[in-house]
Amino acid sequence: MSDESQSRPVNNQYEMRDPLTQYPRPPFPEQPQPAPGLDAKMVPEPDHGEKSYQGFGRLKGRKALITGGDSGIGRAVAIAYAREGADVAIGYLPSEEEDAQEVIKLIEAAGVKALALPGDLKDEAFCTGLIEKTVEAFGGLDILVSNAAKQVFQESIADITTQQFDETFKTNVYALFWLTKAAIPHLKPGSTIITTTSINATQPSETLLDYATTKAAIAAYTEALSGQLAEKGIRANAVAPGPFWTALQPSGGQSQENLKKFGEQVPLGRPGQPAEVASLYVLLASQESSYITGGLFPITGGKLM
Ligand code: NAD
Ligand code: MG
Repeated sequence: MSDESQSRPVNNQYEMRDPLTQYPRPPFPEQPQPAPGLDAKMVPEPDHGEKSYQGFGRLKGRKALITGGDSGIGRAVAIAYAREGADVAIGYLPSEEEDAQEVIKLIEAAGVKALALPGDLKDEAFCTGLIEKTVEAFGGLDILVSNAAKQVFQESIADITTQQFDETFKTNVYALFWLTKAAIPHLKPGSTIITTTSINATQPSETLLDYATTKAAIAAYTEALSGQLAEKGIRANAVAPGPFWTALQPSGGQSQENLKKFGEQVPLGRPGQPAEVASLYVLLASQESSYITGGLFPITGGKLM
């Protein structure tokens, strides 16, 4: 393991702890960085379970694709899936190669296959290619995690350009349509699709007009798709995070002012760490959740949805 990962918080995932003090609480330092943000630049460093996630073969032999698997929630899911025995492909933007390579090393260290797929989800052909390349490399696809997103805060509708609106919808909604459409012909009974919506789907932040609208669309899309897929034995569920300590936030997802108090507004009084959501994605991908489909799962530090 690199020196960097040595400095990540250490904790045993099964040790009983006080969730109030388990992880850093606000205030946080200002730390602007351009989008897409890099995990490598975050202070304090997020915890993706590098030193804590322990697998038990819950996904042994499965083949997974995770968009945005380089950083944040996607990285934590990639680590957990690999340690549970799945081969893991990650999609990410070319400028995120540094973060992605760190994840590829962690997947390989778990003794499973890793596949790095850089490119832009706003392009339909890239989305289709992500599915085809994963199927080709792993010999199939059993788990699709649609997790990548664009989030740019703006105080007023007057500041949202058509380009921003278009890119947010292409990344968050169109890509989900293109990915699922290409994936479904490859999915066997028992396969699962997991989408990432947000608390913004039902409690939209006024400074995230376009983003919140895409997150509501993802929630509806997942519910409708789950109905279509049931007769094929394929399940689809949506995860709805509240505030999570990821590179999405300092890179334009929030104002620096809001970042300083990020997570303060939820009952637990702090942001979640990516490591704290990974086990939910494992549950929804594994056979343990065989009767769960069409669900929406808030993971918000206690803020009600
Ligand atoms: P993140 O920045 O670490 O991950 C988002 C990823 O999206 C990036 O790593 C990037 O690889 C990918 N991406 C963005 N645009 C892309 C494009 N055009 N082509 C290919 N990839 C692209 O941040 P995160 O917080 O881990 O985000 C993961 C998911 O969690 C997102 O769907 C986000 O909306 C959701 N979410 C996050 C929070 C939070 O507070 N962090 C809250 C609610 C929901
Ligand atoms: Mg990233």
